[in-house]
Parts: sequence; C-alpha cells; structure tokens
Amino acid sequence: MKHTITLVPGDGIGPEISAAMRLVVEATGVDIVWEVREAGADVMDKYGTPLPEHVLESIRRNKVAIKGPITTPVGKGFRSVNVALRKELDLYACLRPCFSLKGVKSRYTDIDLVIVRENTEDLYAGLERMIDDDTAESIKRITRRASRRIAKFAFEYARAEGRRQVTAVHKANIMKCSDGLFLESVGQEAAAYPDIEFNDRIVDNMCMQLVQKPENYDMMVLPNLYGDIISDLCAGLIGGLGIAPGANIGEESAVFEPTHGSAPKYAGQNKVNPTAIILSSVLMLKHINEREAADRLLNATARVIEEGKVVTYDLGGQAGTRQMAEEIAGKLTG
Ligand code: NAD
Repeated sequence: MKHTITLVPGDGIGPEISAAMRLVVEATGVDIVWEVREAGADVMDKYGTPLPEHVLESIRRNKVAIKGPITTPVGKGFRSVNVALRKELDLYACLRPCFSLKGVKSRYTDIDLVIVRENTEDLYAGLERMIDDDTAESIKRITRRASRRIAKFAFEYARAEGRRQVTAVHKANIMKCSDGLFLESVGQEAAAYPDIEFNDRIVDNMCMQLVQKPENYDMMVLPNLYGDIISDLCAGLIGGLGIAPGANIGEESAVFEPTHGSAPKYAGQNKVNPTAIILSSVLMLKHINEREAADRLLNATARVIEEGKVVTYDLGGQAGTRQMAEEIAGKLTG
C-alpha cells in the first residue's frame, strides 16, 4: 500500500536527521511518497510566518507527518512552531516511550517507561502578560475535558500494549485547583479500567523515584509542563536525547518527532545521532499499520547500536549522522 506522508525537515540539525530517517525508512521497502513542507525561522521572510498554512494543509490532508526539530527564540520573537502545530491540529497526546537499548552507556540498563503528556493546555497555552515593567504572570489553565481525554488515551494505550500501571503526576498539594482538577479527572477515567493499576505521585517526588527506583513505574500521564521536564529526565535514564523518540497524536492526525530540539551548535556538521527520529519513524510505521517494517527497523537500529562500531559521538563512536543511517539501512537491505 502506498502512503503519502508530510515531512517537515525543521531547522538546526533537523534537515540532516530527517534525511537519515528518510534513508532508513525507504530501506524498509514501505511505499512512501514524502510531501516535504518547510517550517521554522528560515521560511519567515518568504511567508511572513514560521508556520505557513500549506504545512498545516498538507498534514490535515495526509493525516500523518514526521518532523525534525524547530528552533524557538528564547524570551522574544515568534511563538513555538512546535506548540502551534500541536494546537492547530489538536494533537492532544504526546507519547514518548523510553526504553533501554543494549550498547548504550547508562547507569540504568532496564528502563521501560512510557510518558503520556497532555499537549494542548497548562502553562504552554501562552496565556501570559507583563502586568507592569517588573511583574509578569502566566496562567496555568487545566480543563476537565483535556485531562479526561489524555487519561483515556493513556489507559487505552496501556490496554492495547499490555502495560500494567498508570501513574498520574501532579503538584495538587500546592496547585489545588488546576493540578487538583487534573488528578481528579484522571482518577475518574481510571475507574473504567480496573485491569490497569492506577496511582499518583507529586512531581518532585516522581523525579527522585525515577532516578532511584524506575523499575517501580510503567506509564506516566502528566500535564504539559511536567511532561516536558520528565521526558528529558527519562531520556537521561536511557542514555540521552539522541535516542528518545516521540509522537503527537490527535483524533484526526499524528505528527512524529524526536524529543530533542534543534541543537543549533551541531547543525550542519553531520555529527548528531539520528536514532531519536528513526525510532520516531518506527512509531509512525506502526501507526500506519506497517508493523512488520517497524519491527525490522527497530531491530536493525538496535543491532547497529549494540555492535557499537558505526555510531555517533554521544554513543561513544566516531561515525557521522549519515554513516550511522547507512549502516542501519545496510542491515535492512543486505
Ligand atoms: P536540544 O535538545 O536541541 O539540545 C540539548 C543537547 O542535547 C544538545 O546540545 C546535545 O548535546 C544533545 N542532543 C540533542 N539532540 C541530539 C542528537 N540527536 N544527538 C546527540 N545529541 C543530541 O535542546 P535545547 O538546546 O534546549 O534547544 C535548542 C532549540 O530547540 C531551542 O530553540 C528549543 O526551543 C528547540 N526545541 C525544539 C523542539 C521541537 O522541535 N519539538 C523540542 C525541544 C527544543
């Protein structure tokens, strides 16, 4: 079956890791037509916006996209294209599986966690303002609808993937209204899934627990900001951002992207690890029902990392982005 997929290469290291991903996905033999659409700082001059309508139109039509990271100016300039994309397409669920791969140096060897992050509200809604020159405020908006929707996604995923437990992460002891509503809503949804163990942790304690006893946890469901922070913590547990994949999923469409950002200091050097976007493409292949190709690509990537001969700097090797991708592609076609 032929699939048409929107490819947004992004900026910084985005174009080189996207090219690497494309190479290995094509090596699986799955019939894909890539509709390449540019977004980010580089298209601002041409279109007057970092997220031109034709990018959204392409994703709405194809329903599936994969993207490289896009830089967001800090403290000033345009608002995050990544956040805008998730909001515009209502990609409410951010799914980030975090699992150990053999051959990756890490203090932890047996991590198998899944992060489900609410993607549309919380402090990411951008409801902030300067009250006067010396005072700023941000509004943390949490709704029952979005909280129940993300909880349902988490429990449905747990059931479909045979996971045992879902932990709601919050700070409801301090933010009794907003995080309190999130916790209450997840609890209400949990009642419909008696087969899945449900518990909750305060976010600061969760950080310590994940570092000390990650084996006690299975899946986490979190509001947007805690989800962002815990995602990087979990990426650290498995050996770094270079191997942490992700997906943004809505009712209508899905956009797959690595957890990491555009790492501008490495842009154009053929240096960074393509694994995170390649594992994101594994999630994408599963999503479009190319499960056998997804498994082959996952195995080929895991083998190259375990062998440790043609891997990037962050995995202790000297290979470039493209060389590592070629090695993975070779395992698929050879
Ligand atoms: P980052 O993830 O880009 O980089 C942090 C560090 O992680 C890098 O310096 C590098 O050491 C390491 N790293 C990241 N990706 C790697 C890879 N593939 N291989 C090896 N090492 C890797 O985070 P940052 O520096 O905080 O953000 C840079 C820019 O990216 C910012 O503008 C930020 O807004 C943006 N960003 C975009 C997304 C997205 O597009 N979804 C996500 C996060 C950050």
